[in-house]
Amino acid sequence: MEKAREEYIKKYGVDPDKPKVVIVNGVPLPKEYVKELVRSGKIKPAKEEPVNVLGGPSTGPHAINGRIYVHIFIAKDDTYGHAPDSGWNYVYGTWDALSRFEQKFGVDMVDDWWFGYWDMSDVGSSVYDALADLEQDCNWIIDAQNDIVLGWADNLDKNGLAEPDGVNPNTGAFAPDAVCTETPTYPLDVGDWPEDSVVQHETSHLFNAPDHGYTLYPVCIMSYPWAYSGYDWWCSDCESTIYANIWV
Ligand SMILES: [Zn+2]
Ligand SMILES: [Zn+2]
Repeated sequence: MEKAREEYIKKYGVDPDKPKVVIVNGVPLPKEYVKELVRSGKIKPAKEEPVNVLGGPSTGPHAINGRIYVHIFIAKDDTYGHAPDSGWNYVYGTWDALSRFEQKFGVDMVDDWWFGYWDMSDVGSSVYDALADLEQDCNWIIDAQNDIVLGWADNLDKNGLAEPDGVNPNTGAFAPDAVCTETPTYPLDVGDWPEDSVVQHETSHLFNAPDHGYTLYPVCIMSYPWAYSGYDWWCSDCESTIYANIWV
């Protein structure tokens, strides 16, 4: 305690035990002086910046010090069969997809795996419900704007789903979440995609790449037939969108 206090005094030139000080933009100021500045309208009251308020052209996740932390939650075994059960393909697929982001965009994708934490026993087969549940159960891991959360599950109705630009459109909250499905039960979005395609496609959404839908042009992982076919790359538009969002 005493050492911390000394460090603080050394750093800021004020004694934290004499609390009549307010930190404004990193500068400690006497409280009465700050009150006067606020009253006279010279400054706005200092507020904690919530994690969902982001500066710059992108509101979504982005690299800090060249790094994105990818927190991967594997659905726990439950009565609906939500745990992946076809071997380790989804692990290799995740590594393949993340390495494409590293190669193409020069960003370090640091992977971090969590088994036994995501409880989907309150979710049926809806990928929308799964995404909401992932946010609810796993976003405690997020403490910076370079965190993203991927959930791996089985027996959902689509290949995957992600929050566009890493923001929940209903609440406006920072929600860098994507669900990836091992084997979809009712794959309206063209068959069962390879696991690496699912991760690459959904993670791209977190960096604001759009869906191209059921089209062969442009040739891009964001078009459903190309994702299904295992095509590995982005069209030039998606490439520049993702680049701009990672290196915001
Ligand atoms: Zn999509
Ligand atoms: Zn594209």
